Amino acid sequence: MIPSREFTWKSVKTGDNAIFHKNLHTLLNSQVLVLNRLWQAVNICSARRAFALVYAGHAQVVSADEANNFMTHDFQSWRDFSTTAPENEMVTTISWKIRVPRVIVLLFFDRLPKKEVKFTRHNVFERDKNTCQYCGEVFDRSDLNLDHVVPRDRGGTTTWENVVCSCVACNTRKGNRLPREAHMHLIRKPKRPKWRPFVHVTFSTPQHESWRHFVDLAYWNVELSD
Ligand SMILES: [Zn+2]
Repeated sequence: MIPSREFTWKSVKTGDNAIFHKNLHTLLNSQVLVLNRLWQAVNICSARRAFALVYAGHAQVVSADEANNFMTHDFQSWRDFSTTAPENEMVTTISWKIRVPRVIVLLFFDRLPKKEVKFTRHNVFERDKNTCQYCGEVFDRSDLNLDHVVPRDRGGTTTWENVVCSCVACNTRKGNRLPREAHMHLIRKPKRPKWRPFVHVTFSTPQHESWRHFVDLAYWNVELSD
C-alpha cells in the first residue's frame, strides 16, 4: 500500500473576508475526490490523506477554472498556486500556507473501479433497499436481519444468492425452514448486484462543486442492472 507521510499542521488561517472559520481538524477531514490515471472517479479520501499522497508524489492536485479547464499540480506547484490564488479554506504549516485540494488524480494506481460489489451487510441492505424480502416492507436497518434463504445447517451458503434482508417478524416466522416450508415467498430472487458502490456514495454525501464534472461522468458510465 502507499505509505502515508504526515505533516505537522500548525494552525489554520482564513482570509480576512472569511464568512466562517473552519477549524483545522474539519479542513483536514474534508472530502477529496480521487481520480485514477484515466481520470475516472474511483474514491473519496480525506484532505489529510490527499496531502500525503500528493506530497509523496503518488498523486497530483486537480484544479479547474470556470471554463472547466483542468490543471494538475504536484506539491510544489500546488503550494505556489495556493500563494498566487489563495482562498478562504487554507491550512498552514510552520512555514507555508496551502489550499485544501478538492480533487486529486492518482499517478500510478490505475486499476479500474472493481465491478464486483463487496459482500457486506451494508451492501446487502443497499441491494435490498432496506426492504424485507418476504413481506416487502421497508424498515430501519436496526430492525432488519440478514436471513439465509436456505438455512446454513441445511447447506445454505453465505452468498449474494442466499442472503436477503428480513424483518424480525418474518425472520422469526420463517425460523430454520425453507421459505416454501414456511409458506413464504421472496419478493425478488437474490443475486449479486452490478452497481459500483462509488456512485452511490457520492450521491448520498455532500459533494463539492468541482466534483460535478467527474461524478457526472461516473454516473453515465455506471453499469446498470435490471
Ligand atoms: Zn418482513
